[in-house]
Amino acid sequence: MPAPTKKRELDLSEFPPGTITEYTTLVCLACIFDIFTKQLGLAPRTAFSDVKRHTPTIVELTSRTANRPYFDSEEKSPRCPYCGSAKRWLARFDTFCIEGGKTTDAPRRALLKKLPKTDEQFLVIEKKSDSRAVLFEWLDTVGRSLDFADESWLIDATRMYLERREPKTNWDEAFDELRAVRRSSRLSEGWERDGARLFLAPNLYSEALLIQYLASRSHAHGGMTLAGRLTLMDLIRRLRYSGYLDQIGITEREPGEVFEKLIDHLASTHEWSSVRTGSGSDRVPSKKAPKKKAAKKTAKKSSKSRKGKPSQPEPEVIISEPVKLHYLIDRRDFLEKVKSVYASYAG
Ligand SMILES: [Zn+2]
Repeated sequence: MPAPTKKRELDLSEFPPGTITEYTTLVCLACIFDIFTKQLGLAPRTAFSDVKRHTPTIVELTSRTANRPYFDSEEKSPRCPYCGSAKRWLARFDTFCIEGGKTTDAPRRALLKKLPKTDEQFLVIEKKSDSRAVLFEWLDTVGRSLDFADESWLIDATRMYLERREPKTNWDEAFDELRAVRRSSRLSEGWERDGARLFLAPNLYSEALLIQYLASRSHAHGGMTLAGRLTLMDLIRRLRYSGYLDQIGITEREPGEVFEKLIDHLASTHEWSSVRTGSGSDRVPSKKAPKKKAAKKTAKKSSKSRKGKPSQPEPEVIISEPVKLHYLIDRRDFLEKVKSVYASYAG
């Protein structure tokens, strides 16, 4: 009986933007069968049942460069780069890395509940990570999705950052027909739209620059930002003069140390690290239901008193917080291909 070939996409619309990273890896079944029958000396039938149970490791599924029998291809009709096999020998694994946390727990459970349970069509593997690693993985994904040759990437990167930081805000509205992002001299927190421009409070603006720097620094000498091309020294100087470093309690002078603290701050104070630790003692207080007027909602980053003098910040507790990653592996295409390949192999 032929397996249904129509592949149904998973509905991930309930997850906040930026909380899922998708990976696709192709595997060549001819290469796999070859390994199992020739190198391991298994009979085809045994090889078949072994191959069927096979699931690549998380590293194999998510690494940016794949090794035999895995490979990546953007082509419509790819061929195995190792043995030249055509499409019908190639199976696809889709992997969704979902960051654990209060914004993703409910949609993740709901999604898992809906998935078929038989034949291990889907597998879930959990892995411990931390807020820094998650931040860098996110930056890597952001960097890959942007076109640095087109200046509008600066606005796109700002948007991705704000979406990440404030997932409940309607950013479609805020960024609709947007031409420019500017530092506000009026706002002390949050943001406002004025005509085709989006004004960010100094803190948010500083963080947007930092994100742009981090996303682009491997593509340019220094990094590109809304404030132009900046070296790390330029960036730190700018953040110091704008009062941002004082405000978040970074008193170090040495650029390398400042940079490390900035990364930890960015990683530990934002949505991507607001995870459940299992004890139920979330460090980040849970958010109240968003106000009806999303456009009026402001960022609530600082838990510090805003009336306090910026020169007397609370001591910064900098730790890399644990984050649980949930890898959801879609094996449906793989199982179907293994069956059809074996049918032709055995027949
Ligand atoms: Zn092959």
